[in-house]
Amino acid sequence: MRGRLVAGNWKMHGNRASNLALLNSVLAGIAGLEGVTCAVCVPFPYLGEVAGQLKGTSIAWGAQNVSEHAQGAYTGEVSAAMLAEFGCRYVIVGHSERRQLYGESDAQVAAKFAAVMAAGMTPILCVGETLEERDAARTEAVVGRQLSKVLEKTSFGKAVLAYEPVWAIGTGRNATPEQAQEVHAFLRRKVSPETAVIYGGSVKPQNAAAIFAMPDVDGGLIGGASLVAKDFIDIVKAART
Ligand code: PEP
Repeated sequence: MRGRLVAGNWKMHGNRASNLALLNSVLAGIAGLEGVTCAVCVPFPYLGEVAGQLKGTSIAWGAQNVSEHAQGAYTGEVSAAMLAEFGCRYVIVGHSERRQLYGESDAQVAAKFAAVMAAGMTPILCVGETLEERDAARTEAVVGRQLSKVLEKTSFGKAVLAYEPVWAIGTGRNATPEQAQEVHAFLRRKVSPETAVIYGGSVKPQNAAAIFAMPDVDGGLIGGASLVAKDFIDIVKAART
């Protein structure tokens, strides 16, 4: 439900030693912090180990992808039930890198979302427009369509919505707080006033506070900056209520 959330998306980075060092630094840096939930979404091979390292701490953990299928001959895939069995809380669904690099369709994203919900976990559904679509004034049409495909299949429940403009991801070019606010308000009207709507796209310690100060921005999905302990800690602190 609505509340402050900062989730790190480690993407395909890290190793066992660097993961542990990063988690230890972040745990120390956010110790005692209230008013914000902190999570990290880590690569599949590290999930079990990270789960153990985070047990009993204030940091939740999640996955970056999931199969839309329950089980079967899907080589290389990981089901929602497998993640749930390890106590996974969050699963990123429909990240633009999955949509763009791996051709995930709206229908596939909707099926993944439904699988995560059915397994009792919290999907973080990513929606966002390309620069070309923004320039053509199609932002609302695009994010509205991406969200509608999910809502046609499943109710949004307690899932998290992440507005991630494709042109802002990993580019160093973030949406302005006003641009984020405009899209967040539009998205919130399509779900529920109680839905957590977070922003992702080049969030850094320098711009986090201004973005999180917008009334419809409930936190962030953080890529590059989540790999740098001090940056991630500062971003989590900026999201406190
Ligand atoms: C992301 O991968 O979801 C993301 C927002 O990346 P970055 O913060 O690096 O732009």
